[in-house]
Amino acid sequence: MGDEGKGKLVDILSSEYDLIARSAGGANAGHTICVEQGGETKKYVFHLLPSGILHEGKKCVIGHGTVIHLPTLLEEISTLKKQGIDPKNRIVISDRAHLIFEFHKQIDEIQENTKGIKKVGTTKRGIGPAYSDKAARIGIRVGDLKNFDLFAEKLRANAEWHMKTYGFEFDVEREINIHKDAFELIESMIQNVTETLYNDYHQGRTLLIEGAQGTHLDLDVGTYPYVTSSNTTSGGACTGLGFPPTKINSVVGIVKAYTTRVGGGPFPTELGDIEGQMLRDQGNEYGSTTGRPRRCGWLDMTVLNNAIAINGINCLNLTKLDVLTGLKTIKIGVRYRLNGAEVPFIPANLNEFENVEVEYEEFEGWEQDISKATTFSDLPIQCRRYVERIEALSGVPVNFIGVGVRRSEMIYR
Ligand code: GDP
Repeated sequence: MGDEGKGKLVDILSSEYDLIARSAGGANAGHTICVEQGGETKKYVFHLLPSGILHEGKKCVIGHGTVIHLPTLLEEISTLKKQGIDPKNRIVISDRAHLIFEFHKQIDEIQENTKGIKKVGTTKRGIGPAYSDKAARIGIRVGDLKNFDLFAEKLRANAEWHMKTYGFEFDVEREINIHKDAFELIESMIQNVTETLYNDYHQGRTLLIEGAQGTHLDLDVGTYPYVTSSNTTSGGACTGLGFPPTKINSVVGIVKAYTTRVGGGPFPTELGDIEGQMLRDQGNEYGSTTGRPRRCGWLDMTVLNNAIAINGINCLNLTKLDVLTGLKTIKIGVRYRLNGAEVPFIPANLNEFENVEVEYEEFEGWEQDISKATTFSDLPIQCRRYVERIEALSGVPVNFIGVGVRRSEMIYR
């Protein structure tokens, strides 16, 4: 469902790859990475830049499946510079990626407000409306900036159409000027990403693709309409970069040791107020982009196995296992039933999904601090049983276990 700590694993794995790419989504994703530097823990938050940007010399690619609000991207680059990292010559932006304009944010707000209790819970960053323009074939792409007069003409027409449709005012000339300045700063980063990746791959360079959001937020296979506007799965990673599925060697699924969800939508293993709040506090479950409290619940094997099936996941990173420390009992939702019949995959019909009964297995908790564990055998026996049960229920090995926020707090198996 997103916010599993993808950024941390991508950051760790980045040192082994030449290129790191984002394939979908916009600045609604937020990856937080904590790195120990000179005895202190430094925190970096990324919204659009791939987390690999922290590693010197790595090329970071923003694919055409993403939507880009240029001022936000430039702000992200400038924050990094202030933190002592100059990413400028390492960023590649797809000329096919669509642009988000200020009026897309206004539309996001209007659309969300008219939905009343059926709110999707968007981040109101204009991402949905920008993807809508893309699907309606009226979107404007990064590459359009190269012919600036034509870009300005397109933007005027596009803004006017939206102003008429939604009945708001918008200063389009100001937006054009903002993009004139922004274009100067990013011009050297714009490339045909298909060509870039093709050439790099055939010259023997390796690629790590970083997902954004989660499988069940995918526009097609997620819990529609409580989804994001892009394809968040491994298949989406291929279309979002123009990179072939036959060249992908491995898909790592990143899953929290419990479940969280931001915004509306069914959540069968959701916990009540008190236990949910405990996980929220211990796991600091507040969105890194919006600060919104995340809904919390037990790990749900039907959701996980559905994601494994869709993405072809061949190993797992179980994150935030340390957050469960101190709980007397831990549960895993192992099976759904609806009117007595087993429901092995997530149903498309949200009424059905909302009404499933969850069968749980219970596990004894542990008290010991596990954040200093470096090998699997360092973990308390109750903890190991929990992880091994997840492997048995999923049929997929847990190769990485997150036991704390820092880069170093990860067990490799
Ligand atoms: P992402 O979007 O999937 O990268 O997730 P976020 O960055 O939004 O949220 C993950 C949060 O969990 C960040 O604050 C991370 O520092 C933190 N985190 C990642 N792995 C672990 C872990 O194993 N244990 C704990 N306690 N926190 C973690």
